[in-house]
Amino acid sequence: MRLTVVGCTGSMSGPYSAASSYLVQARGADPEIGEDRTWNVVFDLGPGSFGALWRYIDARKLDAVVLSHLHADHVGDVISLQVHRRWYPTGPLGPVLLAGPDGLMDRVRGLDGFAEDDDYEGDFDPVILHDGEPLMVGPLKITPYEGLHTVPSFGFRVEGPSEGDPEKRVELAYTGDTDTCPRIEEMADGVQLFLSEAGFTAADEARGVHLTGARAAEIAKKGAVGSMVLTHIQPWTDPSVVLAEAREVWDGAISTAYAGATYSL
Ligand SMILES: [Zn+2]
Ligand SMILES: [Zn+2]
Repeated sequence: MRLTVVGCTGSMSGPYSAASSYLVQARGADPEIGEDRTWNVVFDLGPGSFGALWRYIDARKLDAVVLSHLHADHVGDVISLQVHRRWYPTGPLGPVLLAGPDGLMDRVRGLDGFAEDDDYEGDFDPVILHDGEPLMVGPLKITPYEGLHTVPSFGFRVEGPSEGDPEKRVELAYTGDTDTCPRIEEMADGVQLFLSEAGFTAADEARGVHLTGARAAEIAKKGAVGSMVLTHIQPWTDPSVVLAEAREVWDGAISTAYAGATYSL
């Protein structure tokens, strides 16, 4: 399993990165072709990320897009994906699995802005996510965990084959947008890689919206994760502040995400 940061800037696009989007890839059997291939799943498609994705894969070969929640900074480029699938020069690319919280297709219609009765049948195969109900995409088992945010949100625990040893199963967890809550703590428990949002710093007093570096580190420590990557840092925040706050809480392996970073599990 391999994670690539397609976009990581918090709450908006930034000067050095698109907004939230993460590519998870793993090799596994494809029953349709009778052999192994690389499966491509994207978590979130924030503004600017669909174009950035082309740097890493042939965007026609996406197997699924999984949305943590329906805030624009995580879904804005779904419409770029829709245009790509419907109007590709050699003909429509067919429906791709699009998973997200309840209200998903209304959100797509709202972003599109002109097609009130479009069902996007030829572009998307929609799946509504529920807490604890896993979604299988090739060799990847993706389990949603309910977060604590201003709208319904999920984090995901993703289990798949190790890149170095395909017989071995490895796990990563991605928080989406959330503050500390029991389900997100359960999600992170024991994973090799914990990709955690840290949208706030100690200077932000609001609760129920985002984690800070320190709160992310508390989850990492409690769950004894292998390593933690901090993401969703706003472009006006110095990442070293978030990192320092996290390191005060946990002395494990912590880094900050940047566009193009890859992690092999
Ligand atoms: Zn966000
Ligand atoms: Zn959000």
